[in-house]
Amino acid sequence: LVILGIETSCDETAAAVIKNGTEILSNVVASQIESHKRFGGVVPELASRHHVEQITLVIEEAMKRADVHFEDIDAIAVTEGPGLVGALLVGVNAAKALAFSRNIPLVGVHHIAGHIYANRLEKEMKFPLLSLVVSGGHTELVLMEEHGSFKVLGETRDDAAGEAYDKVARTLNLPYPGGPHIDRLAQEGKPVIDLPRAWLEEDSYDFSFSGLKSAVINTLHNASQKGLTIEPKDLAASFQESVIEVLVGKTVKAAKAYGVKQVLLAGGVAANKGLRTALEEAFKGIPQIELVIPPLYLCTDNAAMIGAAGSILYEMGKRSELTLNAYPGLDIENF
Ligand code: ATP
Ligand code: MG
Ligand code: FE
Repeated sequence: LVILGIETSCDETAAAVIKNGTEILSNVVASQIESHKRFGGVVPELASRHHVEQITLVIEEAMKRADVHFEDIDAIAVTEGPGLVGALLVGVNAAKALAFSRNIPLVGVHHIAGHIYANRLEKEMKFPLLSLVVSGGHTELVLMEEHGSFKVLGETRDDAAGEAYDKVARTLNLPYPGGPHIDRLAQEGKPVIDLPRAWLEEDSYDFSFSGLKSAVINTLHNASQKGLTIEPKDLAASFQESVIEVLVGKTVKAAKAYGVKQVLLAGGVAANKGLRTALEEAFKGIPQIELVIPPLYLCTDNAAMIGAAGSILYEMGKRSELTLNAYPGLDIENF
């Protein structure tokens, strides 16, 4: 089974070829970060234009590196949502054009399902499993009873974890995307600044990061009014500690409550060193639950993960029509 995966939901134009659901034959990612950096974030119009320029080249490169031809491709898996509509449309239309002209089945994939399935490129999945999804636009705990089934136990009520990282980085004048910079600074600093933890209601698996973000901004503002200086590395370490404590705490609680066999980390913030270490520490004491963390290159957006999810959906019989559209607000529980 050979699947061509295509991903254009945000600012990465990506294509990959996946064999039998788990073997990466190629994985090409053209990042637009340099173009968006000077605006401090992703500019949707610019993203679409870059995708249009790159998509054909990226797909050709993925096919070439995998040493496959269109006759070898069993299905084309493409991110249909969620994401920026103009960005998604470029991938969806490229996939539809190829599917139509080469008569290849088409499979629409949910971007976050892709992030979760990045783990299957490392380890076979064991159900029931719990995935902690932490990315630029999402923070949620997803329960999977079987392949292709996703139940959201809790999600962020305001900012996503990655979004909070990027906003805090911006207040510290760090370049976009700020997550990796905060992560690096946090390793050097000490969590000596008192910041809130958003545990919310006792029985809730929801998250909230906007209060923490405001607390960071207020801390900087108050210090500068009093003429005090705050070490950015200590602020980064304190912010990171607050984020991680809540993420890990709720993940452990849900994993135990639902009796899962595995916990999978997913999304761009899964690249965070502090989070990876804290989860490893926490699950070391729970040997009956296997913790799976994707390698760094599979954490941020890529098409290998879309190919991995697409492989399973294809085997389950999912086919998308050539009328497939881009769905910016696509729901993971029913896609
Ligand atoms: P979504 O997947 O929700 O649609 P997205 O695709 O834009 O959003 P991803 O590419 O999955 O997001 O992740 C990007 C986010 O990950 C950015 O917010 C970035 O700052 C964050 N990130 C990347 N590396 C790290 C790190 N080491 N520590 C913290 N955050 C990080
Ligand atoms: Mg990105
Ligand atoms: Fe993503």
